[in-house]
Amino acid sequence: MDRVHAEEAAAGEPLYFIQLAQTWHGDMLVFWAKGGSGYVVDIEQAGLYPASHAKGRRDIDLYWRPADLVDALTLCVNSERMRGQKPVDKSILASPRCPGCNEHHAPNAECEAPSTRMDSPEMMK
Ligand SMILES: [Zn+2]
Repeated sequence: MDRVHAEEAAAGEPLYFIQLAQTWHGDMLVFWAKGGSGYVVDIEQAGLYPASHAKGRRDIDLYWRPADLVDALTLCVNSERMRGQKPVDKSILASPRCPGCNEHHAPNAECEAPSTRMDSPEMMK
């Protein structure tokens, strides 16, 4: 596979994200990754390629100027980066909300919200 990468492109040459045509991941577009190493949804992992990269490539792939994608950018959560994190224990969601932090605590758990501590800067105001 070709290893053209943004950093390898000639200085000043316009660069494009290449969208893998007719492929979506949910509502997300799929782009060529940096260095031609597969396909990604995360635009930060997508490669920027010069126009010369289009020669001999699939005609159906789409070339985008980065500025044309700005208004469509969105935030997503990457499951790979969530490793080791635990979601909220559903059993504590049935407990009443804490007046100190407005969160649900495990029964009899002490609130750790800074706003309930006497030495909190919020309390000094
Ligand atoms: Zn609390």
